[in-house]
Amino acid sequence: MKASTQAVRVRFAPSPTGHLHIGGLRSALFNWLFARHQGGTYLLRVEDTDLVRSTKGYLDSQLSSLAWAGIVSDEPVVYQMSRVDEHLAQAKQLMRENKAYPCFCAPRDADDVVSSLEAGFGQKYDRTCRDKAYTEEDLQKPHCVRFRLPNNLEQVKFYDQIRGDIVTKGEYFDDFVIIRRDGSPIYNFCVVVDDIFMKITHIIRGEDHIPNTPKQVLLYEALGATPPLFAHLPLILGKDGSKMSKRDAAVSVEEYRAQGFMPEALINYLVRLGWSHGDQEIFTATELISSFTLEGVGKKGSIFDAKKLEWLNGIYLRQVSSERVLQAIGSMNQKMVDELTAAWGEERCIALIKLYKERTVTLVDLVNQILALAVPAQTFDLALIAKWRNERSPLLMSNFADALKETADLSHDNLLRLANAVCDAQGEKLVHLAQMLRLSLTGTIQSPGVFDLLGILGKKEGLLRMNGLQPLL
Ligand code: GLU
Repeated sequence: MKASTQAVRVRFAPSPTGHLHIGGLRSALFNWLFARHQGGTYLLRVEDTDLVRSTKGYLDSQLSSLAWAGIVSDEPVVYQMSRVDEHLAQAKQLMRENKAYPCFCAPRDADDVVSSLEAGFGQKYDRTCRDKAYTEEDLQKPHCVRFRLPNNLEQVKFYDQIRGDIVTKGEYFDDFVIIRRDGSPIYNFCVVVDDIFMKITHIIRGEDHIPNTPKQVLLYEALGATPPLFAHLPLILGKDGSKMSKRDAAVSVEEYRAQGFMPEALINYLVRLGWSHGDQEIFTATELISSFTLEGVGKKGSIFDAKKLEWLNGIYLRQVSSERVLQAIGSMNQKMVDELTAAWGEERCIALIKLYKERTVTLVDLVNQILALAVPAQTFDLALIAKWRNERSPLLMSNFADALKETADLSHDNLLRLANAVCDAQGEKLVHLAQMLRLSLTGTIQSPGVFDLLGILGKKEGLLRMNGLQPLL
């Protein structure tokens, strides 16, 4: 852990106007890892001031996605809406200090938000009200509040931890609105007031926020605060190199959860989108915390690769315990756990997960295969039977059934030994019996080890299923 003079405090500040985007989760993750690495504090601030687009449903969904990913605020969540009085009080203070002023001009658009940055050059506010005296009574009239740009502002400069110095010429700014005509504070103002209040030391967020940062730097100075350090993360790109969209792959964390990705796999995948540590691909949480620094974040956007995510999920499924997989299925969809345990009971469920997780990519596939196994095949693929049977198949199957009836030991090794003995007696290769057995037990010829499966299904069910195939052999 690095020694730091000021305790690191970072935040993730999503707006609950949609489900959590994977780009959002990556920002949250980088903030969280940065805090953990530095021995600092990670905070969550919900920016819920857009009353039209923010919904309780989206808020709950975002909180649930973050909790699923294990990225949880170290202090109580700050809701921006609950701080509006403070935003307004700070605006009043700026007015008292003549760093902001009421503007009574006709609105330049619906909410007075237009400034040179949004509208392009040549549309700057003409400063009509900038130096006009006003009374308390005037403030009863409709007005917005504008920030008074410092006189002769040549440039605004800030140092980005990833990109270096970013300089914006003074001519690019105008006296931008901080409080709209309807009394609501604008995004850039709330963010700065809240980041000061929360004592944020580093702002790590997507590069789409770079255009906001110079205005925020001006506001920090006006509010008498030192700006925090900034790091703007490169975009996540689609295959064609433009910003990733629904056309490329699912974009919300919820979708990845519902498709059956393990949170640890998604996290491991996302961390490598824009950050690297040599050419290491797979990290434990501890390794991530010990190796995560902003120096490892590149400037270039990274292309989202759904195949790599699937590959990683497969790796995680193989790596973790069956108990963890069952728990992950529960946090994906508790109903699936109920169905699995109703079909198999918990112990057999764990045993089946152990077998199936070796060969599946998503939790949903895993659940579907284990549930499918609970129902004996109703029909068999005759072409498959034709491919694997020969004239000795009926005898092999019935001899193996007899051996099975006689044994009390359903371990893999014993069942394999019995099957080998049956095949040897007929001078037949094991594969002919094994494939017929597999087909009878699962209805397919792709499954985990057939003797493991038979052991879990049990003697009675195994014999019943083997019997079901006999007439077709
Ligand atoms: N609420 C903003 C967003 O969702 C983030 C603000 C920030 O990180 O400064 O894009």
